[in-house]
Amino acid sequence: MQSFLYQAAPMRVLFGPGSLARLPAEVEHLGARRALVLCTPEQVAQAERVAALLGERSAGVFAKAVMHVPIEAAREAREVAGQRGADCAVAIGGGSTTGLGKAIALESGLPIVAIPTTYAGSEMTSIWGLTEAGVKKTGRDARVLPRSVIYDPELTLTLPLGMTVTSAFNAIAHAVEGLYAHDGNPIVALMAEEGIRASAAALQPLTANPRDLEARGDALYGAWLCGSVLGAVSMGLHHKLCHTLGGSFNLPHAEVHTVILPHVLAYNAAHAPEALKRVSRALGTPDAARSLFDLTAHYGAPTSLRVIGMPPDGLDRAADLAVQTPYPNPRPLDRAALRALLQRAFDGASPEA
Ligand code: NAD
Repeated sequence: MQSFLYQAAPMRVLFGPGSLARLPAEVEHLGARRALVLCTPEQVAQAERVAALLGERSAGVFAKAVMHVPIEAAREAREVAGQRGADCAVAIGGGSTTGLGKAIALESGLPIVAIPTTYAGSEMTSIWGLTEAGVKKTGRDARVLPRSVIYDPELTLTLPLGMTVTSAFNAIAHAVEGLYAHDGNPIVALMAEEGIRASAAALQPLTANPRDLEARGDALYGAWLCGSVLGAVSMGLHHKLCHTLGGSFNLPHAEVHTVILPHVLAYNAAHAPEALKRVSRALGTPDAARSLFDLTAHYGAPTSLRVIGMPPDGLDRAADLAVQTPYPNPRPLDRAALRALLQRAFDGASPEA
């Protein structure tokens, strides 16, 4: 019998179509009087609707969230929150917007209400990230964990199909690595398997109709579970590689996860048989790595690092960085094998152990 530690995240979760309407009550529940609404420049219209819904409790919209949270944006957001007397932040958007909220909370302790509109899962974690002079630092701090999360599938109807697919693979990646995490546990394994199943199952109906609300609900439910796994246990080779590739070569986040996942799963497969069994069961296939690769292509997502902007002369450096600081992973890190893995991912070749 396995002994383990499981720590539940201290947050409220509201789930369901139309649940955005409960935001004012949620802000009130936090004891907050004025909420600054955060978003990317692309989601201003959605954020304005949120601000209108908050009425007198709105401290206006701050629409400067961008990928990887540049320190300058975080500083400006903190200043604006202070100037407008905000005692709460509402982050509506994907991981970039939630990340901006976390950057404010990291210094000020301002409570965050997250309203996720992608499947990245940041809202379920105490992981923050900040980029200064081109270097991204990350860490864990309980202060950045959102106090409330509102999952309203209606807000995801506008997520373009391409991002829908890669973002769902991003979610699945959290769950896959959670299944073989050195600090994993049976509760997290349940969430991970169900998260993979729900995320993968939603893709077929969403490809046929991206505005299928039922399937949007399934995908968001899967993302919630997968994000919870990311928040609860340590990640391994896959997240390390994606962090390195995203940070050092400025590759798009969800797409990198999508390309790399089948290859890392194949790399770890023989060293994590129980995890493999669960991923296979969740996907309904005997060969999980191959199936993830095939699904990526089937749904029209990128299958090679080359097409998402990886420079061919960066592969050696990426392999060096991946083995530089040791971290737990089911299969020991072998530079030559990782270099070969990166080459296959670059070429769009199928995954191999
Ligand atoms: P994103 O937040 O950068 O969003 C990508 C684009 O999609 C943006 O222009 C955004 O406005 C738009 N968008 C989002 N939802 C939309 C919708 N419903 N309809 C139309 N457009 C929409 O992308 P992401 O993949 O969600 O987040 C990536 C970032 O999150 C990375 O910086 C990554 O490091 C971070 N992240 C952090 C954690 C964590 O735990 N800290 C977890 C996952 C991701």
